[in-house]
Amino acid sequence: MADPWQECMDYAVTLARQAGEVVREAIKNEMNVMIKSSPADLVTATDQKIEKMLLSSIKEKYPSHSFIGEESVAAGEKSILTDSPTWIIDPIDGTTNFVHRFPFVAVSIGFTVNKKVSVKGDLERPESGRGQSMVGKWRVCSGTQKLAISKTQQNTIYITKSLLVTEFGSSRAPETVKIVLSNLEKLLCIPIHGIRGVGTAAVNMCLVAAGVADAYYEMGIHCWDMAGAGIIVTEAGGVLMDVTGGPFDLMSRRIIAANSKTLAERIAKEIQVIPLQRDDEE
Ligand SMILES: [Mg+2]
Repeated sequence: MADPWQECMDYAVTLARQAGEVVREAIKNEMNVMIKSSPADLVTATDQKIEKMLLSSIKEKYPSHSFIGEESVAAGEKSILTDSPTWIIDPIDGTTNFVHRFPFVAVSIGFTVNKKVSVKGDLERPESGRGQSMVGKWRVCSGTQKLAISKTQQNTIYITKSLLVTEFGSSRAPETVKIVLSNLEKLLCIPIHGIRGVGTAAVNMCLVAAGVADAYYEMGIHCWDMAGAGIIVTEAGGVLMDVTGGPFDLMSRRIIAANSKTLAERIAKEIQVIPLQRDDEE
């Protein structure tokens, strides 16, 4: 059966490519950097410009669809997920990278129906490759490259042989930083092979989907950081889980994306949870 949402996905790819061009141009120019929730939570006029561009294009083509966008929420819009087809957008995932010209930035476009980061179709089939189309400019796995999670770990899932990806986050509250560092310490001392992070949740998750990292975890991120890349991980054969070991919740602001359930559960066992206000909490 034809996928009723295929047209939306194709449109998302077109929009992400256009937005990527805007990022490429803007990165050459001087930037006016503003701060949001913390001195390390940055925004530029380009973030706002791209979100406006995406929002107006989507509203014109799909007037009945809903929309959650990082910069719209920053400007006071609510981020409530409903059953209606919803576009969840991070115009620039990795704004700090963008500001410093650290070359890992994503335009993330996610799409949910009935609150699920999925569309009708064969989501369990890694070869469908549909997920990769939902994130735009991405240097590692762009184009038509087929994604698949790391095979070695699929067969022998030892955390001691894993390479993880995570971030320090944008909170500078000492009690939060302490938990972030303590989680890193616990995982490193298991011991594991290593921990990396390229400064954007979307790209970090795509690295798991591509099989070059075994798992990603983070707390304090938002639905727009996870919606686009989450499906890329599951389509590549990976799993999404909450950091408590329970089911993944898009509005919970936390995630483990891993090459297997076993590895995700093992990471969850080590993680101390940071208390956070949900994305859909008033
Ligand atoms: Mg952003």
